[in-house]
Amino acid sequence: FASGETSEAPLELDAEVTSGDLGPLKRKRFDLLIVGAGLSGAVIAERCSSLGLTSLVIDSRPHVGGNCYDYVDEAGIRCSKYGAHLFHTKYERVWRYVQQFSEWLPNDHRVRGIVEDVEGEKKLVPIPPTQDTVNTLFPDANIKNEEDMEAWYASQRIAPPNNGVPANGEEAALSRVGPLLYERIFKHYTKKQWDKYPAELDASVLLRLPCRTTTDDRYFGDPWQALPLRGYTRVFENMLLQDPRITVKLNVDFFQAKKLGQLPKFGKLVFTGPIDAYFQGLPKLEYRSLRFEEEFIPEPTGGFYQPAFVVNYPSSDVDFTRIVEYKHVPNQPTPVKQGMVKGTRIAREYSSATGPPYYPVPNPENRALYERYRLLAEQEADVCFVGRLASYKYFNMDQAILNALEIFDTLKETGNLQ
Ligand code: UDP
Repeated sequence: FASGETSEAPLELDAEVTSGDLGPLKRKRFDLLIVGAGLSGAVIAERCSSLGLTSLVIDSRPHVGGNCYDYVDEAGIRCSKYGAHLFHTKYERVWRYVQQFSEWLPNDHRVRGIVEDVEGEKKLVPIPPTQDTVNTLFPDANIKNEEDMEAWYASQRIAPPNNGVPANGEEAALSRVGPLLYERIFKHYTKKQWDKYPAELDASVLLRLPCRTTTDDRYFGDPWQALPLRGYTRVFENMLLQDPRITVKLNVDFFQAKKLGQLPKFGKLVFTGPIDAYFQGLPKLEYRSLRFEEEFIPEPTGGFYQPAFVVNYPSSDVDFTRIVEYKHVPNQPTPVKQGMVKGTRIAREYSSATGPPYYPVPNPENRALYERYRLLAEQEADVCFVGRLASYKYFNMDQAILNALEIFDTLKETGNLQ
């Protein structure tokens, strides 16, 4: 377990794990074949092992951890290969579960945005909006307390036309913050992120952010917000690589291995990849991908590039959505925390229609298409579809973990595990 460890680096994976060839495993039998070594696959493998079941976990990437994968760069800074991951949860079960695999450092995530004020000048403000955000952008609002903020919102908010229930992201945002903040913070950021305006997306997308009347500038409201002491990759290593009942094979493409008859015998298939890669013949589902433009800045003034871990750029005059500066988080290796690493690494985040799928795109058309896939999945005997990509749901990390735990519960209760 992580607490006794002294090394910051991820475990060295042996050639067997990374070879891309299933080799002698082809002749073995596993209770489960799990496709994907991300959160969902890791939870199912770990839980099944607790019942004495064996799993082969394969992933087409050269590492475990899915999009949570992080690593320490040459300068000694812990970076996330696929974008910042901030763990937060209100589910006690999830919080208790993840603590088995790491020590966790409390971390209240705070985001700043570069946003135009009433004069058209760019200001650095808290996101989601707080009293401070409104006072900085609109000094005349002169908000001193929650009552003032409520009154300001009341003067701004536009009730959704249809029985007060927002039918899409635009109605959701307008009903919470009104047009001034909608235009400045939500409309263009959303267009950049999804290549759709909020009106073309489900209300739930815009409702992910809390709406505050206080000065609380945390991004999330959950009671548990923390980062794993030695990074997410180590969490996965502790879940998967220490367990004799779990075999991990990286650089293995499931479809290719299946086609070539290289898969071993197994009882149950757990598929955590995109559901439209598993079933052919229907139109493809829509996803958004991300592209990161990384930059190492050798001697930033004051040691940092920007004042927060994440700074959002919600205006339409720059193409990226946000900049992440890794050095800000508390789970950096000790030399970074002690100020011994002079440089800093940032990643500008661009959204893209092409590339590996990161986000399902929540709107009525995609939901209807996914429903057709779901019906196919229901009929697929001995295959279980789990996770963000296989169930086409915009899960946060904790929701993905809870979902996998609950699917495990159901499989166990119905005696349907191998
Ligand atoms: N959003 C926005 N402006 C912001 C931050 C978020 O318009 O400054 C909207 C945008 O549509 C985004 C959604 O809220 O996709 C959810 O944001 P979140 O930070 O939860 O997205 P994630 O971290 O999952 O990319």
